[in-house]
Amino acid sequence: MQYLDLTHQGSMKIIICFGGVFNEKNKALICGFLALLLVVIVPFSVFAAELDKKEDSIDSLDYQITCDGGGKHRMEARGIGRVFSGSYSNPGSEVLYGYTKQCAYCNRVLISEYNPTYDNMIGKYRLDYVTDTIGYSTYFYGGLHGSFYGNISQDSYWAGFTFPR
Ligand SMILES: [Zn+2]
Repeated sequence: MQYLDLTHQGSMKIIICFGGVFNEKNKALICGFLALLLVVIVPFSVFAAELDKKEDSIDSLDYQITCDGGGKHRMEARGIGRVFSGSYSNPGSEVLYGYTKQCAYCNRVLISEYNPTYDNMIGKYRLDYVTDTIGYSTYFYGGLHGSFYGNISQDSYWAGFTFPR
């Protein structure tokens, strides 16, 4: 009973409070404020929804990357790879000297700090599409694409790649 009494008092207070605010003088002001609130909130939520959509599409892209050959990428060993910060004509500094793998089906090339076949890890990496089968030594320009130090078998993105021995 005591609990019920308390809520009753509480709601009475709220009603009185609203009663005080909703007189004729303040009505226009409140309407204006609510309209302004809508103008501010609606575009923001649209923007947030757009942002969500974008992130969703990036996520789903990452999660659903399947090789053109169907299934997972089959990344075969292609020797060593070097990644430079600059361009072909102005290479800048070497940012990665690592292992090169290429998908046997779609020619996607990965140069990574660690050897995923044996280390289960990527480290710093560069990932590119090329049109042909590459040779033993590969040079890429334009810097790194990222780094991943987790276990590739437990990552939804890297699980889309296989690194056969
Ligand atoms: Zn592939």
